[in-house]
Amino acid sequence: MAAMKWWGWGLEGVEFTHADKPSLAPFIEEVLGLKVGPVTAAPPRLVDLPVPESALPEELRGALVHAVGDGLVSVDALDRVVHARGKSLRDLIRQRRGDFVRIPDVVVRPGSEAEVAEVLRVAIAADAIVIAFGGGSSISGSLEAPAGETRPVISLDLARLDKLLEIDGPSRLARAQAGVFGPHIEEQLGRQGYTLGHLPDSFTHSTLGGWIATRSSGMQSDRYGDIADLVKGLRMVTPSGTLVARAVPATSTGPSVRQMVLGSEGRLGIITEATVQVRRLPAQRTILGYLFPTFSDGLAAMRDIAESECSVSVTRVSDANETRFSFATRKRATLVDKVQSHALQAFLRRRLGYDVSQMALSFIGYEGSAGHVAAQRRAVGKIVKRHGGLCIGSGPGALYDQKKFDTPYIRDFLLDRGAAADVSETAMPWSRLTPVYDAVNAAAYAAFAEVGVRGYLMCHLSHSYHAGACLYFTFAFVPTPGGDILAEYDIVKSAIQQTFVDAGATVSHHHAVGTEHARWLEQDISAPGVKMLKALFDGTDPGRHLNPGKIV
Ligand SMILES: Cc1cc2nc3c(=O)[nH]c(=O)nc-3n(C[C@H](O)[C@H](O)[C@H](O)COP(=O)(O)OP(=O)(O)OC[C@H]3O[C@@H](n4cnc5c(N)ncnc54)[C@H](O)[C@@H]3O)c2cc1C
Repeated sequence: MAAMKWWGWGLEGVEFTHADKPSLAPFIEEVLGLKVGPVTAAPPRLVDLPVPESALPEELRGALVHAVGDGLVSVDALDRVVHARGKSLRDLIRQRRGDFVRIPDVVVRPGSEAEVAEVLRVAIAADAIVIAFGGGSSISGSLEAPAGETRPVISLDLARLDKLLEIDGPSRLARAQAGVFGPHIEEQLGRQGYTLGHLPDSFTHSTLGGWIATRSSGMQSDRYGDIADLVKGLRMVTPSGTLVARAVPATSTGPSVRQMVLGSEGRLGIITEATVQVRRLPAQRTILGYLFPTFSDGLAAMRDIAESECSVSVTRVSDANETRFSFATRKRATLVDKVQSHALQAFLRRRLGYDVSQMALSFIGYEGSAGHVAAQRRAVGKIVKRHGGLCIGSGPGALYDQKKFDTPYIRDFLLDRGAAADVSETAMPWSRLTPVYDAVNAAAYAAFAEVGVRGYLMCHLSHSYHAGACLYFTFAFVPTPGGDILAEYDIVKSAIQQTFVDAGATVSHHHAVGTEHARWLEQDISAPGVKMLKALFDGTDPGRHLNPGKIV
C-alpha cells in the first residue's frame, strides 16, 4: 500500500472535483460565501520547506538495521514527514505550513512479530520512543511525537504485516496480521467466502491494528458491530514480553485485557495480530434511500428500527443541512433525472405535505439471504411509513455506497481554496439525541459568530444501538481575512466538543482521544478514570517509550 500524500488525504494524483457537480459551487458560495474557482492555497513543494535533519544515533541505526534489514530503515525526508502526523485538520494545516516540530528520526518497517519485538527491545535500550503507524489516518493527533521530545523518535510502520494467517471456519474466526489495510483484508477473506464487514470511511487507508488501537467503527456496525465487538483475541508486543489475549467468544478473567488494548493508541504495546469474527459473504446486499419530512422524524424512525426485531446493516439519516449538501454534490442530471426530480418534489409537497427545505435523506442497508432482505425491507418500510418517510429506491443508496470513500477528499478541496472543514462525532442515549443535536447547533453557530464568519454545520446519525446512537457533525467556514485559520478552527471545534460533554454525550464515539480530545477526557470518564488509565500506561511502559503524551 503506497503512503498517503504528506499534505492531504489519499494518494497523490487522486482529487475531488466539482466540475461534474453543477450545483456544488453555487451551494458553497451560498452557505460559506466562498467563490469556488481555481486553487488559491495550493500545498507547497516539500523541497521548499525546512524539514529537520534526522538525529538518529549511529549505534541505534545499526541495531535497527540488524533487527529488520537495511532497506527497511529509512531516514528519507518525505518518508519521515509522511509519518509525522495523521490526517486531522490541525495535522494538515501544519504540514502545509511546513510546521514540522518533532518529526520521526527514522521510519522502520518490520516484517514479523519477532522483528517488532527486537525493534522495541533496541529502542528501549537506546532510550528511544516508538510510535506505531498503521495507515496514518488518525484524526485525533494520535501519531505526532511530543514537541519537546529529546529522545530519538522511531515511527514503526506495520504495513508489511499484511497477511490473513488462518480461518477457523466452524467458529467463523479469522486470524490476521495487524498491518493489513481494509481492502486487502476484505480481498483475502473474500477469496474464501468471508467478510469482516468493518467499513470506516477511512477504510482504504487504515489498518486492522489502527482500528483496534482507536476503537474504530464502520458504517455497517448495526449488523457487524464495532471493532471492539469484532476482535475476539489478539497479540501485542509490550516492554515486558508479548501479551496474548486468546480468542474466545467470552471470558470471565478479571478486567478484560483485550478491552484495555482496544483504544490504547500504541501506548501499551504494538499489536501484531488479531483474531476477528467474520461472516459468510451475504447472498444479497443493498442500501435503500429514504426521505423523511424532518430530521426528527428520521431519528424517531431509526430509534424504532433499533428497538424492533428488524436486522439491518446500515442506519443513516442526515439533517436538513446535510441533505441539502448531498443533493448539491449530485452529478449533472439528465433530462429524465430532472423530470423525475420535479415530479418527486411535487409529490412530496402536495401529497405528503413535506416542507422540502426541512427534508432528511436517509440510507438503510440490508444484507443476507434474499428472503431475509425482503422481510427486513418490508418490516422497516412499515416503520418508515409510520414516521412519514418514503422509500426512493436503491439508486441513491448504490451511489452512496460507491462514493463513500471519496468524501474525505473534499476537505483538501476546501483547504486548497482557503476554507476549513472538519468533523466531530459523539454518542448518547436515544433520550439525549435531540437535546445534544440542538445544543451543538446553538454552540457551533455561536462560535461562528464569535469568530466573525459565516459557517455551516451539518449532521447525520451514523450508527444505531439498542440504547442510543452516534451523531456525526461536519462543519466548515472561511477564516476571517488575515485571521489565523487554526485559532479560529479551535474556537469552533472546542465549542462543539465541550457541548458534547456538557450535554451528557461522549467526547468521541469512534475517533479516539489522541491529543485532540485529551483535554475533555476527565469530564467524560471522571478523575479516577483518568488516574486508572495513567496507572495502566505507567505500569506497562514505565520508561514512556510507547507513543507518549496520547490519551492522558
Ligand atoms: C477522512 C477520515 C475519515 C475517517 N472515518 C472514520 C470512520 O468512519 N470510522 C472510524 O472509526 N474512524 C475513522 N477515521 C479515523 C481513523 O481512520 C481511525 O482512527 C483508524 O482506525 C486509524 O487506523 P490507522 O491504521 O490509519 O491508524 P493510524 O492512524 O496509523 O494510528 C492511529 C493510532 O493507532 C496506533 N496504532 C496503529 N497501529 C497500531 C498497532 N498495530 N499497534 C498499536 N498501536 C497502533 C497509532 O500509534 C496511533 O496512536 C477517519 C479519519 C479520517 C481522516
